[in-house]
Amino acid sequence: MTSTPVSNLWQVSIAQRAETKPFSKDQTVDLAIIGGGFTGCAAALEAARLGASVTVLEAETIGHGGSGRNVGLVNAGLWLPPNEITEALGEDVGRRLIDTLADGPARVFDIIAREGIDCEATRSGTLHLAHAPSGLKDLKNRFRQGNQLGAPIQLLDATEARRRTGSEAFHGALFDPRAGTIQPLAYCHGLARAAIASGATLHDQSAVTAIRHQDDTWHLSCNGHTLRARRLLLATNAYHAALSAPFRPAYVPVHYSQFATAPLPEDLRARILPGGEGCWDTALVMSSIRIDAAGRLIVGGMGDSDGPGRPVHAAWARRKLRALYPELADVPFEHAWSGRIAMTSDHIPKVLSIGPRAFAVFGYSGRGISPGTVFGTAAAEALLQERPEALPLPPQAAHSETLTGLKQAYYEFGATLTHAIRPSPLG
Ligand SMILES: Cc1cc2nc3c(=O)[nH]c(=O)nc-3n(C[C@H](O)[C@H](O)[C@H](O)COP(=O)(O)OP(=O)(O)OC[C@H]3O[C@@H](n4cnc5c(N)ncnc54)[C@H](O)[C@@H]3O)c2cc1C
Repeated sequence: MTSTPVSNLWQVSIAQRAETKPFSKDQTVDLAIIGGGFTGCAAALEAARLGASVTVLEAETIGHGGSGRNVGLVNAGLWLPPNEITEALGEDVGRRLIDTLADGPARVFDIIAREGIDCEATRSGTLHLAHAPSGLKDLKNRFRQGNQLGAPIQLLDATEARRRTGSEAFHGALFDPRAGTIQPLAYCHGLARAAIASGATLHDQSAVTAIRHQDDTWHLSCNGHTLRARRLLLATNAYHAALSAPFRPAYVPVHYSQFATAPLPEDLRARILPGGEGCWDTALVMSSIRIDAAGRLIVGGMGDSDGPGRPVHAAWARRKLRALYPELADVPFEHAWSGRIAMTSDHIPKVLSIGPRAFAVFGYSGRGISPGTVFGTAAAEALLQERPEALPLPPQAAHSETLTGLKQAYYEFGATLTHAIRPSPLG
């Protein structure tokens, strides 16, 4: 059970990677981007398409952060139900964000089609699954709110939820036909390849270690050389490293882990998620299920399977698989990996103005495929066209979080405890 190999499935099943080299000579460009995830690569692609010179510096490899580790659910919106977004941001700003992100999956799938990105893209919708009767109540509330805004979502009863998932475990579901699934690392590399093809320069193994603003220009120190640009985008989200000045994004790091089976035989694939929807549930300590192109079932849950809680999370994944699909009780997991989510206390992404013509975008709180694409694209437009109104949210001057270390420990402890003691693994 705990002997599942530690390896990220997405690193194994990716079809095409972007070819990048370390930053090795001084350069001056219109826009400098720090971080080669969805946000940075989408921004680079848009900047290059706008005819600007743009360079991305990535500390590790393209998609090293959340973008190469996530579940691959291309959602239309945030975690929060629409009413909570407008309560937090006000009616005008809230509605603008909701409307923009409602189009998020369309933007992602359009880019995939336009650029010919090979990333297992499947626009079969998503199912938000009721893990308990209380979860169904939550879904009814979300359905009512979404309906009022004209979202084409459908509330499914328990029979339909069970038919679509092939599991007896669920009490109903909210189906969103706008959404879908991708191989996330392949999408990120696809964005990077498209950006390079459009004229952008991307460097891996290129950690930015210092930033200063002088003579109306940003100077980024990296690998003993300097990248200069009048415009700067910091897109490091939960994997921000090596830099504390002039800015460090404030968020609570929360871990989420995934476990992928071997490809399932055809007869089981015909019963388990036959429609290919990506799923997550309504439990407080959330979990997810989806199928990849090869027919592997991927089970995800809160907690860090690369940390000391690994045996607990691995044992939970096995119990979860057995509870959802008794017929898979003995199917081995071939891959296990985890990633860090940048959670903000209000679960709303942040755009910060961090100096002249410079933004930091972060805090997607576990919803970063569509938002990362949308915010990254918009940040490039806002910076290059000097049009901050292109951003889905007005830039803030500051954002702080309190007790982040304590909250991180609380989330991990809560996930580990729930996974350890939960008598029924359905929650
Ligand atoms: C396990 C998991 C599951 C998730 N599931 C989903 C999902 O199903 N759907 C969804 O929409 N979202 C999901 N998310 C959230 C989503 O993955 C993230 O919000 C998204 O990847 C953020 O993209 P990004 O480009 O902003 O940051 P990242 O992808 O984290 O990229 C930041 C990059 O910055 C680089 N970097 C950091 N510091 C420096 C430096 N000093 N110099 C140079 N480079 C630097 C890092 O190496 C990293 O590659 C999930 C996240 C996790 C962790």
